[in-house]
Amino acid sequence: MLRRQALILLIVALLGLSGAIRWVFTDPQPLVRTALIMGTLVEIRAYPGPAGDVGEAVEAALAEMRRLEKLLSSYEPESEIAQLSARSDALELSAETVKLLHQGQKLVRQTQGAFDMTLGRVKQLWGIAGDNPRVPEPDELQAALHGSGPGALRISGRRVVKHDPRLQLDLGGIAKGYAVDRAVAVLRRAGISSAAINAGGDIRVLGKHGERPWKIGIQHPRRSDAILLGLKLSDTAVATSGDYQRFFEQDGVRYHHILDPADGRPARLCQSVTVVAGEAVQADALATAAFVLGPQRGLRLLEDLPAIEGLLVDSAGRLLKTSGLPE
Ligand code: AMP
Ligand code: MG
Repeated sequence: MLRRQALILLIVALLGLSGAIRWVFTDPQPLVRTALIMGTLVEIRAYPGPAGDVGEAVEAALAEMRRLEKLLSSYEPESEIAQLSARSDALELSAETVKLLHQGQKLVRQTQGAFDMTLGRVKQLWGIAGDNPRVPEPDELQAALHGSGPGALRISGRRVVKHDPRLQLDLGGIAKGYAVDRAVAVLRRAGISSAAINAGGDIRVLGKHGERPWKIGIQHPRRSDAILLGLKLSDTAVATSGDYQRFFEQDGVRYHHILDPADGRPARLCQSVTVVAGEAVQADALATAAFVLGPQRGLRLLEDLPAIEGLLVDSAGRLLKTSGLPE
């Protein structure tokens, strides 16, 4: 009798270890896939839909993000953005890229130029993404800023021309968010109604996490193992821009990847900014812009925009939140 009980216990334990118990008695488990896309770790979690294969749906979503990397990345020599950067005359772009540029231009206006897609030369000077980052000289920065800013591009129909032929575009502040939105659209079309995509801090959740909202932990900007704040969200996007994501240090100063278009130097007023918005493309760009604007102007920008919430950590580590932040 005892031996039989022990055997049953052993079977139960083995089933538990293999996950089978959880499959039988609780909700289905999400499928989790990761991939390196746009220079960042992308993670997709998706629960099976009523029909179709969740694995295929997730692979299609990742393929969509890789397609957008080939279209928009300045590191892909064949991308439309790299081609436009290399050109001195007008170039006809795809309707999709033009639409994203228009969306970006709108964010440039909304943020008084704090969001800037024309800082490619400045970014190259700092070399923060590469192996040999360095602090550029002031005159180098001035030269690299030449021709950048809100009026740098002329878009008519699908033809785009740069006023300064040397201008280099960089959609690094918006492309990940856009790719996350497109990947969510792919999942939705495949019948998935519960999923979360995280592309290096640009997150969008679809539906709920079982019966409950998704819980998203916002990383503490100075303690890599600590959560600053937890957000409960469903069917929304949240993006974080932080000075801890990509940086190097020299003589005790932290030089990071979010640049102030006013002087081409890393913006110094915040440690991190998180924005909650309907779409990841908006959350992504607004987080970058509010970081540049700093705690006061950044908070005002987020408060003034409808259906946008956020939290900012200023340079002293103080936390500021918009009034409607869903905690
Ligand atoms: P994010 O990680 O979304 O804050 O975006 C940072 C990336 O956007 C950088 O690595 C640059 O490629 C680009 N970037 C830097 N400064 C700006 C800016 N002021 N406006 C728009 N994009 C920027
Ligand atoms: Mg961003």
